[in-house]
Amino acid sequence: MKDTLLDLQDIQKSYDATPVLAGVSVTLSAGETLALTGESGSGKSTLLHLAGGLDQPDAGRVLLHGQDIGQMDDTARAEARRLHIGLIFQQFNLVPSLTVGSNIALQARLAGRHDAAFCTTLGHRLGLSDLTTRYPEQLSGGQQQRVAIARALAPKPALILADEPTGNLDEDTGDAVLSLLLDLVSETGAGLLMVTHSPRLAGRLSRRIHLSRGALAAA
Ligand code: ADP
Ligand code: MG
Repeated sequence: MKDTLLDLQDIQKSYDATPVLAGVSVTLSAGETLALTGESGSGKSTLLHLAGGLDQPDAGRVLLHGQDIGQMDDTARAEARRLHIGLIFQQFNLVPSLTVGSNIALQARLAGRHDAAFCTTLGHRLGLSDLTTRYPEQLSGGQQQRVAIARALAPKPALILADEPTGNLDEDTGDAVLSLLLDLVSETGAGLLMVTHSPRLAGRLSRRIHLSRGALAAA
């Protein structure tokens, strides 16, 4: 049996009494890449935030390695996130005052797992070796997102969550960045849950689910 990494069980979430997720269940195994599609406003980011312990469900369980992170207090959830999850967002979210090299190392340092050799390898694989002393504002969008990918992978998290990671990039750059992400995820054996509204990009992952009217539908 495959190792279940993430197990979302009957998740419910409302904002201002409006249900966004009305009982969503999904599992992700180690080494699996899962695309989450759905129209704008369908709740994709909400589901990703719950999976990453950035928010808590109204009902249902968010099991990461069998532990319910939805029930943890803020401190414990932040710790679980630091140790086990890498987050990648559409807006890159790099720290503007830190160099590329320091941005790449940041999450690994916070997790107490900084590995300088691995950071160098990641920088090399992502074509960032000559950019490590630059600052984020001196990079193109595609370069910034490659830094964000390196930063997310540096602590060797079991789970990578990516919310429209190529949404701010042109198609060719986005395709190249996604290829690098998928290669590295496959090499590290992490599980990937990626939100995209592009069926084309979703088709590049191993499995696809579609969110509509608060529930998962066949994609
Ligand atoms: P998607 O990522 O699929 O575009 P979201 O998960 O961002 O959708 O949002 C789903 C719905 O929940 C939208 O109607 C949005 O307005 C609402 N929503 C999301 N976050 C909040 C929030 N923090 N407060 C109130 N409403 C929210
Ligand atoms: Mg969204």
